Amino acid sequence: MKIYNTLTKSKQEFEPLEPGKVKMYVCGPTVYNYIHIGNARPMVVFDTVRRYLEYKGYEVTYISNFTDVDDKIIQRAIEEGTDADTISKRYIIECKKDMEGLQVRPATIHPLATEEIPGMLEMIQTLIEKGYAYAASDGTVYYRTRKFQEYGKLSHKNIDDLQAGHREIKVTGSEGKEDELDFVLWKPKKEGEPYWTSPWCDGRPGWHIECSVMAKKYLGEEIDIHAGGEDLIFPHHENEIAQSEACNGKQFAKYWMHNAFLNIDNKKMSKSAGNFFTVREISEKIDLQVIRFFILSAHYRSPLNFSAELVEASKNGLERIITAVEHLNYLLENAQNKVITEEEKEKLIQTEAFVRKYETAMEDDFNTADAIAALFELVKYSNTNTSSENTKEYLQILKKKILILCEILGIVAEKETCDLDTEIEALIAERTAAKKEKDFARADAIRSQLLEMGIILKDTREGVQWKRK
Ligand code: AMP
Ligand code: ZN
Repeated sequence: MKIYNTLTKSKQEFEPLEPGKVKMYVCGPTVYNYIHIGNARPMVVFDTVRRYLEYKGYEVTYISNFTDVDDKIIQRAIEEGTDADTISKRYIIECKKDMEGLQVRPATIHPLATEEIPGMLEMIQTLIEKGYAYAASDGTVYYRTRKFQEYGKLSHKNIDDLQAGHREIKVTGSEGKEDELDFVLWKPKKEGEPYWTSPWCDGRPGWHIECSVMAKKYLGEEIDIHAGGEDLIFPHHENEIAQSEACNGKQFAKYWMHNAFLNIDNKKMSKSAGNFFTVREISEKIDLQVIRFFILSAHYRSPLNFSAELVEASKNGLERIITAVEHLNYLLENAQNKVITEEEKEKLIQTEAFVRKYETAMEDDFNTADAIAALFELVKYSNTNTSSENTKEYLQILKKKILILCEILGIVAEKETCDLDTEIEALIAERTAAKKEKDFARADAIRSQLLEMGIILKDTREGVQWKRK
């Protein structure tokens, strides 16, 4: 499996630090508003990377933070006449709802910056002790950027050509800075802002320190994959490397993965530029599964332009897959329980070529665009090589192959509710049979079981009716 590593600017063979295990950290959003579909791109892309690694048998620990203390959150709180905590808590809940709609699985842990302050104080202290950081007279702690010899190795920038990062928040002015390039690790509180006490001043952390601390706490000093959007390469990830490697004395992350932007009219979708659509507003018009499929229709390192035509094409593509599965289900309803034929076995062997094609694409730096093309080939093969003559076993194996490839992409080609409905119907039928045989204990037990599943039964003259609570 090859992964493009921003650090080496090349595709490299993936070799995890520990065989069979992958430690992955993905920078999460700053929670002051609904996420937009640009923010959704890294979520969907790296969730797919995680799913594929799991499909290959790796045990993946996936950490993704929420930045819940930040100037923008505070600003929003002031505008709404509330506190920062209320804002961040609200948008974390909303973000998780959007993630669910996009079929992005929850991380192993979603740490919050505000809950990791002790770890940040500890890391800053170590950096000061090692000479990599210093406190200015007003209590601001800066990272001594030039002291870290390898600064610039991720963004491939020469330190002398660098300007201080545009995301750096200059709350204290730069009088106390030894060098233009030094960045903030801790800064003094301002009136009305959330703050924590520290040895240097009452204040709050700079943005970069949280990820170094959370990655170390939940994954260890060395991790396999660190990921995020390409705007994070500099300064955020460059600064994370400087902090973590100076503190721990070890290489921080082995592979650095960055997704390209989701654009509108070939310009980056961003909140600050105002050219964005939130996932929430889009979900009112378009099934979020279509948005997920659209995001995966391009390779993650290629820019992707959000347009009605491309979304429509994704919708049609997705429908082709869903229809194929529906067709298989239709055939399965009446298919015979006979032994699979030699001809069918031969056909299943032929489908392996599409699965291998899919895997080859995914193992070439997660080329989901080509993987989807291979999935379409499998779907087409299924459509043209199935009929009411086929055995149940053949149809089931074929369906499973399609569903597994869909699942890696986070696509639900067969609605879960259908499975659930079938299960409910089966339980109701069993209850009716139990009642007929006067096994009332069993009938009652099934009623309770259904109730626990949120299903209410109503015995009518026409038979049993059911509804969800
Ligand atoms: P932010 O909340 O701005 O820190 O962004 C959260 C994540 O979304 C980061 O990984 C960003 O790189 C990523 N991101 C923001 N805008 C876009 C975009 N238009 N396209 C792709 N990724 C983006
Ligand atoms: Zn980060």
